[in-house]
Amino acid sequence: MLDNVKVVLVGTSHSGNIGSAARAMKVMGLTQMVLVDPQCEVDDQALALAAGAGDIASNAQIVSTLEEAVEDCGLVVGSSARSRTLEWPMLEPRECGEKFAQEGKNHPVALVFGRERTGLTNEELQKCHYHVCIPANPEYSSLNLAMAVQTLSYEVRVAHLNDVESQYSAPDEIEYPRHQELEMFYEHLEKVMLNTHFISKEKPGQVLNKLRRLFSRARPESQEINILRGVLTAVEKTIENKK
Ligand code: SAH
Repeated sequence: MLDNVKVVLVGTSHSGNIGSAARAMKVMGLTQMVLVDPQCEVDDQALALAAGAGDIASNAQIVSTLEEAVEDCGLVVGSSARSRTLEWPMLEPRECGEKFAQEGKNHPVALVFGRERTGLTNEELQKCHYHVCIPANPEYSSLNLAMAVQTLSYEVRVAHLNDVESQYSAPDEIEYPRHQELEMFYEHLEKVMLNTHFISKEKPGQVLNKLRRLFSRARPESQEINILRGVLTAVEKTIENKK
């Protein structure tokens, strides 16, 4: 999925931002950088700020229009600090990450970032399916380009990790005891506690209720209840043998 994510930087003018964006991408596992009509070179400053991610910046695809950058993408999301200049379907950063994690499994997807000074033009924003806005301080809402790349790449990664995890953990396969089975366990427990004189029939107190609460909190699985039943049976057998 992560290999299907393109980070598209439009009209970037500071090479340092390209390097920092490359670093921001690589730490989140993204590799596909596309530069649309860059106003600078991938120079020494870019490579210095990329630290170990110079490969991402050096291998960036360079094209002259946004169309070329996203022509093979099934989902294109434009990021903008200004959310209200243009009425357009909006995504929260988290939703954006989730959409990428889902759709990125099937086809290339693109996150588009604008120029440092002027952002994306309305025409460019209208080429996107959705816009995403990082809900920053309304009085100072514009992040540095590479930091916007970092924030949104992080959301893509978190959503991807959640998706992978939910595929592997199969909570439906856990078998929990039915109510009746649990009641039989509590009866058994009470019987053994009486037989061992841990509690007395005349003054049972709150012990059993407290143990019920403990087991309710722990949500034992069927297999665990079977183990506990086995322990109780072993205790009963030992008492029998001693008699
Ligand atoms: N003054 C420009 C800001 C450009 S910052 C403007 O008003 O648009 C460079 C790029 O970083 C933006 O084009 C956008 O892609 C991204 N960016 C910066 N702050 C952002 C935010 N709060 N939400 C989403 N993207 C943001």
